Amino acid sequence: MPSSRPEFALIDRIRLAAGTSSRVLLGIGDDAAGLDCRVDHETLVATDMLLDGVHFVVDECGPYLAGRKALAVNLSDLAAMGGRGLASFVSIALPKSQPIAWADELMQGVIDLGAEWNCPVAGGDTNSWNGPLVINVAVVGETLQTQSTRRSGAKPGDVIVVTGALGGSIHGRHLRFTPRLEEAAELLRLAAPHAMIDISDGLSSDIQHILAASGVGARIEEAAIPVHPDVTLHSGLAGLDSEDRQAWLTHALNDGEDFELLFTLPHGEWERLQAEWRHPTPLTRIGVVTEGQGCMLVGNSGESVPLTAGGYVHQFG
Ligand code: ADP
Ligand code: MG
Repeated sequence: MPSSRPEFALIDRIRLAAGTSSRVLLGIGDDAAGLDCRVDHETLVATDMLLDGVHFVVDECGPYLAGRKALAVNLSDLAAMGGRGLASFVSIALPKSQPIAWADELMQGVIDLGAEWNCPVAGGDTNSWNGPLVINVAVVGETLQTQSTRRSGAKPGDVIVVTGALGGSIHGRHLRFTPRLEEAAELLRLAAPHAMIDISDGLSSDIQHILAASGVGARIEEAAIPVHPDVTLHSGLAGLDSEDRQAWLTHALNDGEDFELLFTLPHGEWERLQAEWRHPTPLTRIGVVTEGQGCMLVGNSGESVPLTAGGYVHQFG
C-alpha cells in the first residue's frame, strides 16, 4: 500500500528503481543491507559528502547531475585503490523548498550511474531541512586483486603516469566525468603499479600524498603534463600562443576535480604497459620518483622549481 508520508513513498520508488546485483543479498527495505563480500579480496569502503555551493551549484546543474557526481567521486576512489563498487549508500538532506520529484531526480542520477557500473543503491537515509542540499554517498566495494593499490608503495626510479588530461574540469567535466574503473582494471591486468591515487584536489596536491605516504620525492616534467583543451574555456585563456601555455599549466596543476588516475610503476613495467595499452583513455608519463622528499617541477630549459600544493582549501574557524 502506498504510504501517506512522502519520504516513505520516495524510498519505495528508490527501492523499485535501484536494481539488484548478485552481491547485494539484501537491499533497501530492512534495518541494514546485506552484502556478499569475498574473503580472498580486500573489502573497500569509500565515502564522500557533497555540499550545494561547494561541490556543485544545484540551481545550475540540477539534482540529477548532483546525484551522479556524488556516486562518481566514490567510484573514482575505488578505482584508485584498484577496486570496483558493489553497492552504494546514499544519505541526503533535502531542502524543504524543493518538491519531492526533485529528490527522485537526484536519486536517479545515482541509480543510473550505479547501473552502468553494476553498483546498485542498497540503502541510505532521507531527511529534509531548511538548509541547502547535502548528499553523502558511501560505496562498499572490493579490490580486483587480493590487495589494494595504495598511496604508500612508490619507489625511487618509478615512472609517474597519469590517465587522460588535466585542467578546466569546472566547465562541466567535474559533473559528467567517467570514473576510471575500466582504466584501473586494464592497468592491473597489464602491470603491477606500486602506488595510485585519483586526482581530486589537483596534481600539485595529490602527487604530494603519494610522495609523503611513500617517503620519496619526485621530478615532474612541465612539458609532459597533458593539458585538457577545456582550460581554454577559462576567461582570458582563449588564445593558443605559448604565453597562455603557462596559465594553462597552472590550471592543469591546481584546478582539481579531474578525477584522473595518477600512479607509479617500475620503468620496465611502463614500457610493457605502453606497448599493450588498448584503452582509448591515453596514458602519459609525466615524471619520475626520486630519493628524498618533495616534488620538483622541471621547466622546458631544464631549470627546476619546487612544486607546491595548490587547489581548493576548506576553511575552518
Ligand atoms: P530506519 O529508520 O530503520 O533507518 P529508514 O526509514 O531510514 O529506516 O529507511 C528505510 C530503508 O530505506 C532502509 O533500507 C534505508 O537504507 C533505505 N533508505 C532510506 N533513504 C534512502 C535513500 N535516500 N536512498 C536509498 N535508500 C534509502
Ligand atoms: Mg534511517
